[in-house]
Amino acid sequence: MLPLETAREFVLDRCEARKPTHVPIADALGLVTASEIVSAEAIPQFANTAMDGFAVRSVDVADAPCELRVVETIPAGHAPQVTVGPGEASRIMTGATIPPGADAVVMVERTAVVDSPSADGEVVRIEVSVPPGNHVRPIGDDLHAGAHVFGTGTELTAGHLGVLCSLGLTEVEVFPRLRVGVLSTGDELVDDGSPLQPGQIRDSNRRTLLALAQRADVTCVDLGLARDDPDEIETAITTGVQTCDAIVTSGGVSMGDFDYVKAVLDRIGDMRWMQVAIKPAKPLAFGTVGDVPVFGLPGNPVSSMVSFELFARPGLRSMMGHPDPIRPAVAATATEDLPRRADGKTHFMRVLATPNGGGIEVRSAGGQGSHMLWAMAKANALAVVPDGGGVRAGEPVDVLLLD
Ligand code: AMP
Ligand code: MG
Repeated sequence: MLPLETAREFVLDRCEARKPTHVPIADALGLVTASEIVSAEAIPQFANTAMDGFAVRSVDVADAPCELRVVETIPAGHAPQVTVGPGEASRIMTGATIPPGADAVVMVERTAVVDSPSADGEVVRIEVSVPPGNHVRPIGDDLHAGAHVFGTGTELTAGHLGVLCSLGLTEVEVFPRLRVGVLSTGDELVDDGSPLQPGQIRDSNRRTLLALAQRADVTCVDLGLARDDPDEIETAITTGVQTCDAIVTSGGVSMGDFDYVKAVLDRIGDMRWMQVAIKPAKPLAFGTVGDVPVFGLPGNPVSSMVSFELFARPGLRSMMGHPDPIRPAVAATATEDLPRRADGKTHFMRVLATPNGGGIEVRSAGGQGSHMLWAMAKANALAVVPDGGGVRAGEPVDVLLLD
């Protein structure tokens, strides 16, 4: 059996990042930057107010309370027309430009409009003194022009996309989103909700794998269901290879008599068949057909998901330019025994992880058989239980927190 790290290294070595491209910001969520973003503009580009209130000269309000004559009302999006002189103030709305002459803002809650305005116009009573710069957002407060905003290899989240829009960008250079085809194989599988004939089961893997792929920010392509028939499997895979950047299959890669995925991939691809020292998901087929990576995952529902997590997700992320494609393990504490037997493998147990007092506590999510998808569905983490007799309640254990 191969250690997990060796098997994964083999996979990652063959999952190089694709050639960068420019995409509209609207299509960039979850993609990884392929060049550094440098700001061509300052944000904000003009000094503006953080509060609704009155723009004042701080020297005028040093002895507050005091009264000032209101010379203008400045909404957001409109340039001020009047300079604030001694004894004057301008009413101003959040985000509006600080008028010339003013150097501070008094929030509206600390002011009162005087009932009987003088002949000159409105008068506001200022109740507090404020220092220069009070509630003023200066030019470049968030980013100055020429700032190094995001480096190469940044995964673009909602906030990143907002910053790119703030900078006036409409496109960004990224590693392209992959198209990933997912294929189920097996004579026993039914995928249309029809009554099961003896020996049949329903195809669950295609949906879980498509969903996991979607969560890995790729474009998913449903390659359907192939029978345990070499021609059908070959047609499905060669069709997939023509339209996809990577292929994920489930089933047909173990030692059974009808595991034709193996035979077909050996004929049309450059495959490596691995027995990885992990449970679940010991068998893994990985290689390329043409230059398209193919992940041949085992058929048992939990195995296919764990195998996706440990191999396909990092491989796909690597192809999409992620500098750290592997999910990091975090330290946790078992609140109940997580028993296992020594078998030379690392076990990935389905657990529920909950935060507690700055740490993470884990307990079993239920049945640990590789066919027991229910517990996998309820789990939010995989506990990494090293070879041996398992983890006792109260002992530390590493976990992979799932999406
Ligand atoms: P295999 O790897 O083809 O030997 O399949 C191992 C186990 O996983 C068998 O019990 C299969 O019936 C089951 N299995 C294979 N593919 C699927 C699938 N798409 N959905 C649910 N179970 C599956
Ligand atoms: Mg099968």
